[in-house]
Amino acid sequence: MRCPYCGQTKNRVVDSRTSREGRAVRRRRECRECGQRFTTYEVIEERALSVKKRDGSYEPYDRNKLIRGIQVACTKRPVTLKQIEEIADAVEENLERSESGEVESREIGERVMNRLRDLDQVAFVRFASVYTNFQDPEEYLEAIRELGGRGGYDAAQLDFLEFVLAEEERRAKDRKQARRRR
Ligand SMILES: [Zn+2]
Repeated sequence: MRCPYCGQTKNRVVDSRTSREGRAVRRRRECRECGQRFTTYEVIEERALSVKKRDGSYEPYDRNKLIRGIQVACTKRPVTLKQIEEIADAVEENLERSESGEVESREIGERVMNRLRDLDQVAFVRFASVYTNFQDPEEYLEAIRELGGRGGYDAAQLDFLEFVLAEEERRAKDRKQARRRR
């Protein structure tokens, strides 16, 4: 493994432990040349999974892309990267069990939403709005009502959700006006 600092390949492992719930081994390595430390992960080579998108086309499953999508929804929310990675782990575990090695993007989205709903309601609504591509503020309301049905939302989050709704209604009005002008 090439040292990211000096490019030499001689290094020694200073620490080794399992991570990602036993599905990876994390190693801290120390470069014999420059003494810098870096981390490597060893994982089982995964079967290529393909994702069927809403338009019917396919793309290879991309863990980093999924994590980025969740991170965007969790911007400025009390959700850690570790929690986000755990969501991705859970999604992947399910994918790996699929016989065909093929999964619909909708299914991935739903799995993420199920996890986010319990973790952070604001992140949930944000993610849902992107993933289900809400066209109508009513759909937002529906998602939020659904949260209410699950034991209610907390007041601080509710403020934000109302803000999101107001924003969304304003945008919907703008879109309508833009259509009329055309
Ligand atoms: Zn080095």
